[in-house]
Amino acid sequence: MKYDLHMHTFYSKCSNLKPQTILKLAKKKKLDGIAITDHHEIKGALEVKKLNKDKGFEVIVGEEISTNYGDVLVYYLNKKIDKIDFYEVSEEAKRQNALITIAHPFRTTLVHNHRFKLPLEKVKHNIDAIECFNARTLPGDNKKANEAAEKLKVAKTGGSDSHFLFEIGTAHTIFEGSLRTALKRKQTKIAGTIMFGAFGGVLSYLRKKIF
Ligand SMILES: [Zn+2]
Ligand SMILES: [Zn+2]
Repeated sequence: MKYDLHMHTFYSKCSNLKPQTILKLAKKKKLDGIAITDHHEIKGALEVKKLNKDKGFEVIVGEEISTNYGDVLVYYLNKKIDKIDFYEVSEEAKRQNALITIAHPFRTTLVHNHRFKLPLEKVKHNIDAIECFNARTLPGDNKKANEAAEKLKVAKTGGSDSHFLFEIGTAHTIFEGSLRTALKRKQTKIAGTIMFGAFGGVLSYLRKKIF
């Protein structure tokens, strides 16, 4: 199975992707599933899920939450999580039987510092995975995430962090069977390219400045 576990619709200010466009393109790129992870919103994810009529393709309702310590991705949500405190978000994810991964824990860019502010070792029992390949993150920073996951024996996820068409499917989480089981057993693999995400990052920055 090949899933892209990090994407934004136009419900995120920094993206212009329409739900139907994401679905169409993800299938064209031969993905088996996607997670929609808008910033503090699940409306786009619910729309994509509703549009999907293909039983062989999974749409996961997710959310990217900027917690007090940094960004996390939550998968398989029934309800939007409104909390900001990392530990409360982790608790609420458990209550909903959702899964939680730390997004791009070491990401730094010219304009932002998106690093997760707690040592990953401290939170390893509060999470299900670490995002070890994010297509909008520098190779060195992805490598650090990968090394941390290996050292702490935490499962890995990968995602494109798509905000624009050309980014969809440029990073993946690869596994056999169900995602949930593969993450629990720490049997997921990651792959991708950052060639498109770098350009997407610049466009998102401009979009946020203009709108
Ligand atoms: Zn983020
Ligand atoms: Zn994101």
